[in-house]
Amino acid sequence: MNIIGHLINGEICTDAARTQDVFNPATGEVTRQVALASVETVEQAITAAQAAFPQWRNTPPIKRARVMFRFKELLEANSDKICEMIGEEHGKISHDAAGELQRGIENVEYACGAPELLKGEHSKNVGPNIDSWSEFQPLGVVAGITPFNFPAMVPLWMFPMAIACGNCFILKPSERDPSSTLFIAQLLKEAGLPDGVMNVVNGDKVAVDVLLSDQRVKAVSFVGSTPIAEYIYATANANGKRCQALGGAKNHAIVMPDADMDNAVNQLLGAAFGSSGERCMALSVAVAVGDVAGDALITKMTAAMASLKVGAFSDSTNDFGPVITSQHRDKVVGYINHAQEQGATIVVDGRNPEVEGYNNGFFVGGTLIDNVTADMVSYKEEIFGPVLQVVRVQTMQQAMDLINDHEYGNGTCIFTRDGEAARYFSDNIQVGMVGINVPLPVPVAYHSFGGWKRSLFGDLHAYGPDAVRFYTKRKTITQRWPSAGVREGAEFSMPTLS
Ligand code: NAD
Repeated sequence: MNIIGHLINGEICTDAARTQDVFNPATGEVTRQVALASVETVEQAITAAQAAFPQWRNTPPIKRARVMFRFKELLEANSDKICEMIGEEHGKISHDAAGELQRGIENVEYACGAPELLKGEHSKNVGPNIDSWSEFQPLGVVAGITPFNFPAMVPLWMFPMAIACGNCFILKPSERDPSSTLFIAQLLKEAGLPDGVMNVVNGDKVAVDVLLSDQRVKAVSFVGSTPIAEYIYATANANGKRCQALGGAKNHAIVMPDADMDNAVNQLLGAAFGSSGERCMALSVAVAVGDVAGDALITKMTAAMASLKVGAFSDSTNDFGPVITSQHRDKVVGYINHAQEQGATIVVDGRNPEVEGYNNGFFVGGTLIDNVTADMVSYKEEIFGPVLQVVRVQTMQQAMDLINDHEYGNGTCIFTRDGEAARYFSDNIQVGMVGINVPLPVPVAYHSFGGWKRSLFGDLHAYGPDAVRFYTKRKTITQRWPSAGVREGAEFSMPTLS
């Protein structure tokens, strides 16, 4: 069986002592295996990256940007192939895979602006004939560890900007759907990137732990579940590394009584069930304010869900596909069972979906649960499946309190026609990314992405302007060129300008 290897110093290599099955989640079949890197393999990648760094660091930013321009063109030229790889291993429908790739490409476009983004800051005459400037220097070897749910987009949040800033990169993609990620990384060589600047090690905790402990790795970006994010952040910090670790989510949408209900239902439909709910920005809880809004939401959502189409990635008329593994399917079903046992009402039940021709696939149908309360397990934890839960409250403040009290603070949205309510909401909600009648407020590539509370550990958000800061260190230079023959006496007090 085909074994997916690693990309080290520009070459694909395989250490197949340990491997893991990779599934097609729509058919349930094992299609490939992925090599799980040993300690030695990861160390080889770090050595290759370290060796490539001095030359890449000194490559003018405009030349680094040109590599990114060519890379963007190659991503576009190969988009069908990449989307097929995503569909085959992740299960998302082709139109959704294309959306993911496009959002990833936008990060490459942003990285093409490296010469502008790295210009630094300059002050003339901070003292008599003294100039001072700050410049942003690359860190060296940096690493990224990414989740299964966006095998193209999330890696593209990280390495284009890191590389454009002059760093060398080691990526550890998800072992569950690694093919598209590895293929994308290989395109960089064709784009003109010198060997060793970009490396991919496939693997599991063994590989991650080397990246966290090896002193040659200066920074780690992580995206994944919150328990692992906490571990990554604590370990990287303990080992003196810069770290940003983005974690899980529980994103609420408030549906106000004055909302355009048909519009809110349409928006919620895509945001709750798109990509089988396997998005960290999925809207998984709708908080209906008032009985009228609650009843209308349930009635209209039930009707809309009747036309949801679940199936394999290759049929672009499908709305969403399977979840990633059979274990994950069982976990999602377990949360629905829990909600029922704890007294919630299962309005639309997706626990046993019929997907013709795909009897062994890991499918969960769209599920709508009413009368959910804050003490339920299914409310407290991230389900990461096609499940929309409805919580009913009487006031907007109660809805906001629910959101502010939740441990996660990734994304949220309010559906309303009232500008004052929307402004109060965006001012006071304790969440990092806020939508006003926009269900998936994923920032564009020239802003930055990140949640609050236990959805992000670290000081800087991912991609955009924060990424330029994360992947560089500031150096501030203060300079004077005394005129020939002019000598000043020693000064023992702190220099000031009076
Ligand atoms: P995960 O935490 O299981 O895995 C993420 C990465 O960590 C993978 O590369 C995996 O190999 C590695 N990993 C897993 N267990 C590890 C361990 N014990 N030690 C070291 N490394 C380990 O996450 P996932 O299931 O792949 O992805 C889904 C999760 O990611 C969800 O919680 C979702 O909300 C989150 N996510 C968050 C964002 C965000 O921007 N906040 C974006 C996408 C996904």
